[in-house]
Amino acid sequence: MKERTRWWDFAACVGTDPDLFYPTRDDSPAEALHICRICQVRTECLSHCLLHGETHGIWGGTTEAERDAIRQAVTECP
Ligand code: SF4
Repeated sequence: MKERTRWWDFAACVGTDPDLFYPTRDDSPAEALHICRICQVRTECLSHCLLHGETHGIWGGTTEAERDAIRQAVTECP
């Protein structure tokens, strides 16, 4: 049995349809966000996304618009 050592080994989205996490403009992100809500590595996922400049998809239980707001708030901090 393979040992789980990286944060994404514990992701709740493992084995789900990746398309859920990259909704098109007409798709709802609700199902992906629901999966994220029970994910034990949500903080790690969001940190990874922000640190690596991931702009597309659902990461750490956030939408693209929500992460844009986070980045904007951070850049406006004195
Ligand atoms: S927070 Fe969401 S996208 Fe990130 S690993 Fe967990 S389930 Fe996947």
